[in-house]
Amino acid sequence: MAINIAVDGPAASGKSSLAKALAQKLGYMYLGTGELYRAVGYYMVKNYPQGYKIEDVIASLKNINIQLQFHNGTQNVILNGKAVSAFLDEDDISMAASQVSKIKEVRDFLLDLQRDLAKNNNIVMDGRDIGTVILPNAQVKFFLTASPEVRATRRYNQLKEANKKADYNEILANIIERDKNDTTRELAPLKKADDAIELDNTAYDFNTNLEHMYKLFSEKDVVE
Ligand code: C5P
Repeated sequence: MAINIAVDGPAASGKSSLAKALAQKLGYMYLGTGELYRAVGYYMVKNYPQGYKIEDVIASLKNINIQLQFHNGTQNVILNGKAVSAFLDEDDISMAASQVSKIKEVRDFLLDLQRDLAKNNNIVMDGRDIGTVILPNAQVKFFLTASPEVRATRRYNQLKEANKKADYNEILANIIERDKNDTTRELAPLKKADDAIELDNTAYDFNTNLEHMYKLFSEKDVVE
């Protein structure tokens, strides 16, 4: 049986960086599931520049084909034959992802892709509902938290480092709105699984948290 590690948490909580580093340390595959919802959001933003309704999203799913490629631990989302991961980071796409992710048909559409990968590979998967819905039997589950301000600062610094436009107040507002969408939606809301280990990503630095996660995983004594 493949070993599955679920890492959930709110936007910009640092879960992707930690999940990716943990996967690398363990020699496991890594999947950031946010990119799947972002790819659907990207399709909608590009194809409906004037805006779209829920029905438009549902009708569009038959025209959306999402595949994943992995190269040296980096994932690339292929949307209708085109590599799009490099375009999924913008704030309008984050917001679109948050909107489309509320729709049952979208969540169902992306379910098998995630579960199939986890069935066949030792994997660290991050998202919002990995421990609760996608991989309820994951051997180890983490739930990362951090205040909205800390997360906004992290996102602001990431954008600055990438020489991208960054406005702290806009970022903070975006994070608060996405948190609200993600925690209050009816389907697969962001919440800690009962058996997840909660980690406050504000209290310690990256390496301390990574070592802590690694140690907690090792102590679980999971076997393939
Ligand atoms: O993790 P990331 O910020 O890239 O996710 C983008 C959006 O996709 C989130 O705000 C959330 O609405 C949605 N998402 C989700 N379930 C997941 C991963 C992401 O609903 N497992």
